[in-house]
Amino acid sequence: MQSELIGRFAPSPTGDLHFGSLLAALASYCDAKHHHGRWHVRIDDIDEPRSVAGSASAILKSLDIYGFEWDGDVLWQSHHLPRYADALSELVKHQFIFTCNCSRRKLPSGMAYPGNCRDQVVPYAGKDACYRKHDHALRCRMRGQVSFTDAVQGSQTVNLETDPGDIIVWRRDQLVSYALACAIDDSDKATHVVRGADLLSSTSAQIGIMQALHIPVPQYAHIPVALDANGDKLSKHSKAPAIITQEPLPTLLQAWNFLEQIPMTPGSVEEFWQHAVPAWSMDRVPAQTRMAL
Ligand code: GLU
Repeated sequence: MQSELIGRFAPSPTGDLHFGSLLAALASYCDAKHHHGRWHVRIDDIDEPRSVAGSASAILKSLDIYGFEWDGDVLWQSHHLPRYADALSELVKHQFIFTCNCSRRKLPSGMAYPGNCRDQVVPYAGKDACYRKHDHALRCRMRGQVSFTDAVQGSQTVNLETDPGDIIVWRRDQLVSYALACAIDDSDKATHVVRGADLLSSTSAQIGIMQALHIPVPQYAHIPVALDANGDKLSKHSKAPAIITQEPLPTLLQAWNFLEQIPMTPGSVEEFWQHAVPAWSMDRVPAQTRMAL
Protein backbone atom coordinates (compact mmCIF):
# COMPACT_ATOMS: atom_id res chain seq x y z
CA MET A 1 0.00 0.00 0.00
CA GLN A 2 1.27 3.46 -0.86
CA SER A 3 1.88 5.58 2.23
CA GLU A 4 -0.28 8.64 2.83
CA LEU A 5 0.74 11.96 1.30
CA ILE A 6 1.31 14.67 3.91
CA GLY A 7 1.43 18.26 2.76
CA ARG A 8 2.01 21.42 4.73
CA PHE A 9 1.68 25.18 4.59
CA ALA A 10 4.26 26.97 6.69
CA PRO A 11 3.74 30.73 7.03
CA SER A 12 5.95 32.88 9.22
CA PRO A 13 3.95 35.09 11.58
CA THR A 14 5.44 38.27 10.17
CA GLY A 15 2.30 39.82 8.71
CA ASP A 16 -1.07 39.05 7.17
CA LEU A 17 -1.76 36.42 4.54
CA HIS A 18 -1.24 37.99 1.09
CA PHE A 19 -1.93 36.72 -2.42
CA GLY A 20 1.54 35.13 -2.75
CA SER A 21 1.07 33.04 0.38
CA LEU A 22 -2.50 32.17 -0.62
CA LEU A 23 -1.06 30.58 -3.78
CA ALA A 24 1.21 28.33 -1.68
CA ALA A 25 -1.65 27.45 0.67
CA LEU A 26 -4.00 26.65 -2.21
CA ALA A 27 -1.50 24.57 -4.18
CA SER A 28 -0.28 22.59 -1.16
CA TYR A 29 -3.84 22.00 0.08
CA CYS A 30 -5.19 20.87 -3.29
CA ASP A 31 -2.17 18.63 -3.87
CA ALA A 32 -2.64 16.88 -0.50
CA LYS A 33 -6.43 16.61 -0.66
CA HIS A 34 -6.50 15.55 -4.33
CA HIS A 35 -4.36 12.59 -3.27
CA HIS A 36 -6.54 11.91 -0.18
CA GLY A 37 -3.68 12.96 2.04
CA ARG A 38 -3.33 15.10 5.13
CA TRP A 39 -2.54 18.80 5.23
CA HIS A 40 -0.87 20.53 8.15
CA VAL A 41 -0.48 24.18 8.98
CA ARG A 42 2.84 24.96 10.61
CA ILE A 43 3.59 28.39 12.02
CA ASP A 44 7.29 29.18 11.55
CA ASP A 45 7.62 31.24 14.69
CA ILE A 46 11.27 30.68 15.56
CA ASP A 47 12.47 34.11 14.45
CA GLU A 48 10.96 36.01 17.32
CA PRO A 49 12.47 39.41 16.47
CA ARG A 50 10.72 39.30 13.07
CA SER A 51 7.39 38.03 14.40
CA VAL A 52 4.46 40.43 14.48
CA ALA A 53 2.10 40.15 17.44
CA GLY A 54 -1.29 38.79 16.44
CA SER A 55 -0.24 37.75 12.96
CA ALA A 56 -0.32 33.97 13.58
CA SER A 57 -3.93 34.15 14.70
CA ALA A 58 -4.81 36.51 11.83
CA ILE A 59 -3.28 34.06 9.33
CA LEU A 60 -5.20 31.12 10.83
CA LYS A 61 -8.42 33.14 10.77
CA SER A 62 -7.93 34.05 7.09
CA LEU A 63 -7.24 30.41 6.20
CA ASP A 64 -10.42 29.41 7.98
CA ILE A 65 -12.51 32.08 6.22
CA TYR A 66 -11.08 30.93 2.88
CA GLY A 67 -12.32 27.41 3.66
CA PHE A 68 -9.00 25.63 4.31
CA GLU A 69 -9.38 22.69 6.69
CA TRP A 70 -6.14 21.57 8.29
CA ASP A 71 -5.63 18.17 9.85
CA GLY A 72 -4.78 17.89 13.52
CA ASP A 73 -3.50 20.73 15.65
CA VAL A 74 -1.55 23.63 14.23
CA LEU A 75 2.21 22.93 14.47
CA TRP A 76 4.41 25.62 16.02
CA GLN A 77 8.13 25.58 15.34
CA SER A 78 8.78 27.17 18.73
CA HIS A 79 7.55 23.91 20.28
CA HIS A 80 10.15 21.88 18.38
CA LEU A 81 13.33 23.43 19.80
CA PRO A 82 14.47 20.25 21.63
CA ARG A 83 14.16 18.34 18.34
CA TYR A 84 16.33 20.95 16.55
CA ALA A 85 18.90 20.76 19.37
CA ASP A 86 19.02 16.95 18.96
CA ALA A 87 19.59 17.35 15.24
CA LEU A 88 22.36 19.83 15.96
CA SER A 89 24.17 17.42 18.29
CA GLU A 90 23.84 14.68 15.69
CA LEU A 91 25.48 16.98 13.13
CA VAL A 92 28.22 17.82 15.66
CA LYS A 93 28.78 14.12 16.26
CA HIS A 94 29.48 13.60 12.58
CA GLN A 95 31.79 16.64 12.45
CA PHE A 96 29.61 18.75 10.20
CA ILE A 97 29.51 21.74 12.56
CA PHE A 98 32.06 24.48 13.04
CA THR A 99 31.98 27.77 14.90
CA CYS A 100 32.12 30.93 12.85
CA ASN A 101 32.92 34.39 14.19
CA CYS A 102 32.90 36.18 10.83
CA SER A 103 30.93 39.38 10.83
CA ARG A 104 28.70 39.98 7.81
CA ARG A 105 31.14 42.72 6.74
CA LYS A 106 33.96 40.20 6.59
CA LEU A 107 32.12 37.98 4.11
CA PRO A 108 31.72 38.57 0.36
CA SER A 109 28.11 39.49 -0.36
CA GLY A 110 26.04 37.33 -2.67
CA MET A 111 28.61 34.53 -2.68
CA ALA A 112 28.95 31.19 -0.92
CA TYR A 113 30.72 31.26 2.44
CA PRO A 114 34.46 31.20 1.60
CA GLY A 115 35.35 28.71 4.33
CA ASN A 116 37.23 31.09 6.68
CA CYS A 117 36.39 29.21 9.89
CA ARG A 118 35.99 25.71 8.47
CA ASP A 119 38.74 24.33 10.70
CA GLN A 120 36.97 25.32 13.92
CA VAL A 121 35.14 22.01 14.09
CA VAL A 122 33.04 21.66 17.25
CA PRO A 123 34.16 18.65 19.31
CA TYR A 124 31.42 16.22 20.26
CA ALA A 125 30.66 16.26 23.98
CA GLY A 126 27.60 13.99 24.07
CA LYS A 127 24.01 14.09 22.90
CA ASP A 128 22.79 16.43 25.62
CA ALA A 129 25.66 18.90 25.61
CA CYS A 130 24.79 22.47 24.69
CA TYR A 131 26.61 23.50 21.53
CA ARG A 132 25.12 26.99 21.23
CA LYS A 133 27.25 29.88 22.41
CA HIS A 134 26.76 33.63 22.35
CA ASP A 135 30.02 34.60 20.72
CA HIS A 136 29.64 32.75 17.42
CA ALA A 137 27.30 31.25 14.90
CA LEU A 138 27.35 27.55 14.08
CA ARG A 139 27.77 26.58 10.44
CA CYS A 140 27.24 23.23 8.80
CA ARG A 141 29.73 21.95 6.24
CA MET A 142 28.00 21.30 2.96
CA ARG A 143 29.53 18.48 0.97
CA GLY A 144 28.80 16.89 -2.39
CA GLN A 145 25.74 17.63 -4.45
CA VAL A 146 22.00 17.17 -4.33
CA SER A 147 19.75 16.17 -7.22
CA PHE A 148 15.99 16.18 -7.09
CA THR A 149 13.06 16.49 -9.44
CA ASP A 150 10.79 19.38 -8.63
CA ALA A 151 7.21 18.68 -9.74
CA VAL A 152 6.95 22.17 -11.28
CA GLN A 153 10.49 23.42 -11.87
CA GLY A 154 11.87 20.11 -13.19
CA SER A 155 15.18 18.44 -12.60
CA GLN A 156 17.63 20.25 -10.27
CA THR A 157 21.25 19.45 -9.50
CA VAL A 158 23.14 21.66 -7.08
CA ASN A 159 26.75 21.55 -5.93
CA LEU A 160 26.37 22.12 -2.20
CA GLU A 161 29.91 23.40 -1.74
CA THR A 162 29.27 26.44 -3.90
CA ASP A 163 25.52 26.83 -3.58
CA PRO A 164 24.65 27.47 -0.81
CA GLY A 165 28.07 26.67 0.74
CA ASP A 166 28.45 26.14 4.50
CA ILE A 167 25.23 27.49 5.96
CA ILE A 168 24.40 28.85 9.39
CA VAL A 169 22.33 26.34 11.38
CA TRP A 170 22.35 28.18 14.69
CA ARG A 171 22.64 31.92 14.76
CA ARG A 172 24.88 34.00 16.96
CA ASP A 173 21.75 35.44 18.60
CA GLN A 174 20.90 31.89 19.74
CA LEU A 175 18.11 31.34 17.24
CA VAL A 176 17.91 28.17 15.19
CA SER A 177 18.14 28.95 11.48
CA TYR A 178 15.22 28.59 9.09
CA ALA A 179 17.24 26.01 7.10
CA LEU A 180 17.71 23.62 10.03
CA ALA A 181 14.22 24.04 11.51
CA CYS A 182 12.50 23.66 8.15
CA ALA A 183 14.64 20.65 7.16
CA ILE A 184 13.80 18.83 10.40
CA ASP A 185 10.08 19.60 10.35
CA ASP A 186 9.63 18.80 6.68
CA SER A 187 11.50 15.53 7.07
CA ASP A 188 9.63 14.56 10.26
CA LYS A 189 6.15 15.69 9.32
CA ALA A 190 5.70 16.04 5.54
CA THR A 191 6.08 13.91 2.45
CA HIS A 192 5.36 16.72 -0.03
CA VAL A 193 6.51 20.32 0.19
CA VAL A 194 4.66 22.75 -2.09
CA ARG A 195 5.76 26.38 -1.77
CA GLY A 196 6.81 29.45 -3.76
CA ALA A 197 9.71 29.29 -6.22
CA ASP A 198 11.48 32.05 -4.25
CA LEU A 199 12.33 29.27 -1.78
CA LEU A 200 13.79 26.95 -4.43
CA SER A 201 17.29 28.19 -3.60
CA SER A 202 16.81 27.17 0.07
CA THR A 203 15.88 23.62 -0.86
CA SER A 204 19.37 22.32 -1.61
CA ALA A 205 20.61 23.36 1.85
CA GLN A 206 17.60 21.72 3.48
CA ILE A 207 18.14 18.49 1.53
CA GLY A 208 21.86 18.73 2.38
CA ILE A 209 20.97 18.76 6.09
CA MET A 210 18.53 15.85 5.70
CA GLN A 211 21.18 13.85 3.83
CA ALA A 212 23.79 14.58 6.49
CA LEU A 213 21.35 13.31 9.13
CA HIS A 214 20.15 10.35 7.01
CA ILE A 215 16.52 11.35 7.50
CA PRO A 216 13.76 11.17 4.82
CA VAL A 217 13.72 13.79 2.07
CA PRO A 218 10.22 14.89 0.94
CA GLN A 219 9.20 15.59 -2.65
CA TYR A 220 9.15 19.21 -3.75
CA ALA A 221 7.03 21.44 -5.97
CA HIS A 222 7.92 25.12 -6.25
CA ILE A 223 5.05 27.11 -7.71
CA PRO A 224 5.54 30.38 -9.61
CA VAL A 225 5.96 33.58 -7.67
CA ALA A 226 3.39 36.33 -8.27
CA LEU A 227 4.65 39.83 -8.99
CA ASP A 228 2.94 43.12 -8.29
CA ALA A 229 2.52 45.92 -10.86
CA ASN A 230 6.09 47.16 -10.10
CA GLY A 231 7.52 43.73 -10.89
CA ASP A 232 8.28 43.05 -7.20
CA LYS A 233 7.52 39.69 -5.64
CA LEU A 234 4.30 39.80 -3.63
CA SER A 235 5.65 39.36 -0.13
CA LYS A 236 5.41 40.85 3.30
CA HIS A 237 8.70 42.56 2.49
CA SER A 238 7.24 44.32 -0.57
CA LYS A 239 4.23 45.29 1.58
CA ALA A 240 1.82 43.10 -0.38
CA PRO A 241 -1.71 43.84 0.79
CA ALA A 242 -3.53 41.30 2.96
CA ILE A 243 -6.05 39.19 1.07
CA ILE A 244 -9.61 40.40 1.47
CA THR A 245 -11.48 38.31 4.00
CA GLN A 246 -14.97 39.75 3.41
CA GLU A 247 -15.25 38.18 -0.02
CA PRO A 248 -12.95 35.15 -0.45
CA LEU A 249 -14.39 33.65 -3.64
CA PRO A 250 -13.01 36.12 -6.24
CA THR A 251 -9.54 35.89 -4.68
CA LEU A 252 -9.67 32.09 -4.57
CA LEU A 253 -10.59 32.08 -8.25
CA GLN A 254 -7.82 34.55 -9.03
CA ALA A 255 -5.32 32.20 -7.34
CA TRP A 256 -6.82 29.19 -9.13
CA ASN A 257 -6.49 30.91 -12.51
CA PHE A 258 -2.98 32.13 -11.73
CA LEU A 259 -2.03 28.48 -11.24
CA GLU A 260 -3.62 27.74 -14.67
CA GLN A 261 -6.11 25.19 -13.41
CA ILE A 262 -9.19 24.18 -15.43
CA PRO A 263 -11.51 27.22 -15.34
CA MET A 264 -14.60 26.96 -13.17
CA THR A 265 -17.48 29.21 -12.11
CA PRO A 266 -18.52 28.18 -8.61
CA GLY A 267 -21.23 30.13 -6.80
CA SER A 268 -19.77 29.84 -3.31
CA VAL A 269 -16.59 29.03 -1.40
CA GLU A 270 -17.97 25.54 -0.59
CA GLU A 271 -18.62 24.91 -4.27
CA PHE A 272 -15.14 26.19 -5.10
CA TRP A 273 -13.53 23.52 -2.90
CA GLN A 274 -15.91 20.81 -4.12
CA HIS A 275 -14.64 21.46 -7.65
CA ALA A 276 -11.05 22.38 -6.84
CA VAL A 277 -9.91 19.27 -4.98
CA PRO A 278 -10.89 16.68 -7.63
CA ALA A 279 -9.93 18.98 -10.54
CA TRP A 280 -6.45 19.92 -9.24
CA SER A 281 -3.52 19.12 -11.50
CA MET A 282 0.07 19.95 -10.57
CA ASP A 283 0.98 19.30 -14.22
CA ARG A 284 -0.94 22.41 -15.26
CA VAL A 285 0.97 24.73 -12.89
CA PRO A 286 3.33 26.95 -14.91
CA ALA A 287 6.94 27.31 -13.82
CA GLN A 288 7.58 31.00 -14.55
CA THR A 289 7.23 33.96 -12.25
CA ARG A 290 4.43 36.18 -13.50
CA MET A 291 2.37 39.25 -12.73
CA ALA A 292 -0.58 38.48 -10.42
CA LEU A 293 -3.70 38.47 -12.66
N1 GLU B 1 8.02 30.21 6.83
C1 GLU B 1 8.78 30.50 5.65
C2 GLU B 1 8.08 31.58 4.86
O1 GLU B 1 6.97 31.93 5.17
C3 GLU B 1 9.07 29.27 4.84
C4 GLU B 1 7.96 28.62 4.20
C5 GLU B 1 8.25 27.28 3.55
O2 GLU B 1 9.30 26.67 3.68
O3 GLU B 1 7.28 26.86 2.90
O4 GLU B 1 8.68 32.10 3.93
